[in-house]
Amino acid sequence: MNLVVVESPSKSKTIKKYLGKDYTVLASKGHVADLPKSELGVEVEKNFEPKYIVTNKKSLAELKKAYKDADKLILAVDLDREGEAIAWHVAQRLGAVDKNGKPKKDKKVERIVFDEITKDAINEAIKKPRSIDINLVNAQQSRRVLDRLVGYKLSPLLWKKIAFGLSAGRVQSVALRLVVEREEERDAFKAEEYWSIEAYSNLKEKGKVEILSNDQENETDILEKIKNIKESTDIPLYLFKIEGKTPKLTNIATASAIVDDVKDKEWIINNVEISESLRYPKPPFITSTLQQTASNWLGMSAKRTMMAAQALYEAGFITYMRTDSLHMSVQAVDQVRSYINKKFGVQYLPQSAIQYKTKSKLAQEAHECIRPVDFTKTADDLGLTDEKSKIYNLIRNRALSSQMTPAKVETISLFVDIGKYQFKSSGQRITFDGYLKVYPEKISETILPVVSKGDQIYPEFIVQSQHFTQPPARYSEASLIKKLEELGIGRPSTYVSIISTIQTRNYIEKDGKYFVPTDVGKVVIKLLKKYFLNIVDYGFTAQMEENLDKVAVGKLDWVNMLKDFYLPFEKELKEKDKTLTRDEFKILGQAPGDIKCPKCGSKMVIKLGKYGRFYSCSKFPDCDGMLGIEKEGDETPVDINSDEFTSLYEKAPKTDDGREYVLKTGRFGKFWAHPDYPKVKDARPLTIKPEKMEEIYGEIPKTDDGRMYILKKGRFGEFWAHPDYPKVKDIKKISKKK
Ligand SMILES: [Zn+2]
Repeated sequence: MNLVVVESPSKSKTIKKYLGKDYTVLASKGHVADLPKSELGVEVEKNFEPKYIVTNKKSLAELKKAYKDADKLILAVDLDREGEAIAWHVAQRLGAVDKNGKPKKDKKVERIVFDEITKDAINEAIKKPRSIDINLVNAQQSRRVLDRLVGYKLSPLLWKKIAFGLSAGRVQSVALRLVVEREEERDAFKAEEYWSIEAYSNLKEKGKVEILSNDQENETDILEKIKNIKESTDIPLYLFKIEGKTPKLTNIATASAIVDDVKDKEWIINNVEISESLRYPKPPFITSTLQQTASNWLGMSAKRTMMAAQALYEAGFITYMRTDSLHMSVQAVDQVRSYINKKFGVQYLPQSAIQYKTKSKLAQEAHECIRPVDFTKTADDLGLTDEKSKIYNLIRNRALSSQMTPAKVETISLFVDIGKYQFKSSGQRITFDGYLKVYPEKISETILPVVSKGDQIYPEFIVQSQHFTQPPARYSEASLIKKLEELGIGRPSTYVSIISTIQTRNYIEKDGKYFVPTDVGKVVIKLLKKYFLNIVDYGFTAQMEENLDKVAVGKLDWVNMLKDFYLPFEKELKEKDKTLTRDEFKILGQAPGDIKCPKCGSKMVIKLGKYGRFYSCSKFPDCDGMLGIEKEGDETPVDINSDEFTSLYEKAPKTDDGREYVLKTGRFGKFWAHPDYPKVKDARPLTIKPEKMEEIYGEIPKTDDGRMYILKKGRFGEFWAHPDYPKVKDIKKISKKK
């Protein structure tokens, strides 16, 4: 019997169909081993040796049981680095290979890879097994170790200097920096006013010219009217040049003067230009372009897109979905060309197959573009529904169109010269649809009437419109992925996790489909940029990604790569821990001018505190005056007099004059606030009664001098902290929890 290991149950189901009874197919259900969560898990001194622990005991036990009776182990997990690492972990845990991925004595171990899960591809792969590629494994390990070192070493510094529970990751911090800097550009942006002039004209005179002014105040009325005008007139013209230069009209007076100048003149067509251009299809999808297009066209997040794509891959309907290669196999090209010819006719088939060049130099483990396994099958033929059907059709149409003829677009330009002013009208129409037949990109068509040089036309409406220059747009998921790809930072397997990490850490928020940085996100970037520029440097991060690619092809030793990064980083960490001050990073900006310090009357600044933003005297630490900033309540009402509450928690603290503190909810949970909070910035923790503590959390650890540890809540849950924490960096795990 041969034991075939894949990573997911649905993939094993598909593969089982194609292999005979001599094969047992089992799923590892993802990784079976990983770094421990509770500690660094990397022995830096021992060449960065990772201390892996088993993370999926149940799956491993099943694999071990089946392996006992197996003659041969066949590793059929996914073809990228992640898959190679899973193969290596599984084979090691089964005792089949050594640390270098070499089969142990008397063990038969084969690694097979395939781009698509079809009978032919599987049989082909079984015939051509290879051994575990330790370079790919090492590339995966170095990414894991690198990210772990940065995350686990840098985060405690953020806790000390900004707020507990924060964390900094390697690539995600760069993505966050992009979002933060875009927001800064927007804040610094000053909109400039400019005006445009359009003349809606007819071939026959229809009476007097009507002048319309489209400024901000009457916008909606005018917009409705202009829409009607556009439909009812023959030729839309716009002011194109003044004395051969692009016009710069900065106010209504300049625009009106021009309108006055031209409105009663004769409008004669001076020139007609007709040209035909080709619109070429786009290459087939790779991971990043699939995610961007699904977001733009279908409004689907990268995460959902990848979930649908993975299901399609595992069902044997598309090729592997994590790829940066544009290559399409010879067989697939033959298949798609014969399909195009049969279905659409020879005019839609280019004379020879189109070759697309892959940008990524080292894209070697990713073999093919994302394409359907069988081009003749539509989503309906495969019985697909919902998102899977949408993603399948998108992939199919894009791949199909990539091998079709270009569309032909005819462009007509008309020019009318009036003194020094030149007006232009542009029309375009599609004369041959080509690839647009299956991949309907939007091409706006404006059909102009047939006119010749010397013809007179008659403006019916002249519209002068006010505009303002726009700040650079915030990043959406699609544009952020595009930017990361341009910077050489993202990889097919990382886009989704980059974006979801900065979102779940509350470093960015979504405004519609756009990302806005939070205060915490801004502060984190401020600190990283000032003290750990490498971590958020675009070039440096791209270089690290390239180094990982080099490790994957055996051109760089992974331990050396890690040393080159880590030794200076560690030195920096130690230095910065001493030098950087807590306070400077908490300043978010200036308070509005009318807000003055309640103690000394000075200006105030906005700071980030434990419970959100507040105003602090700009003279701090000489003056400690502060004011609260009310944040709209996310408060869940709790009955503090209920038995449940009073039996569990200590009573509310009281002010000196006997008033009770009020229970509030902040960023890190519930707390007691001074009755005059936020004016009086005094907050106390909500504490569980000691007797209940023992009952719920087991014995409370004590210091050598008998002081009790304090229960704290961090990103990874609750823990016991030394009473002098964070000064004394000593935390203990909670032994039990009820
Ligand atoms: Zn003050």
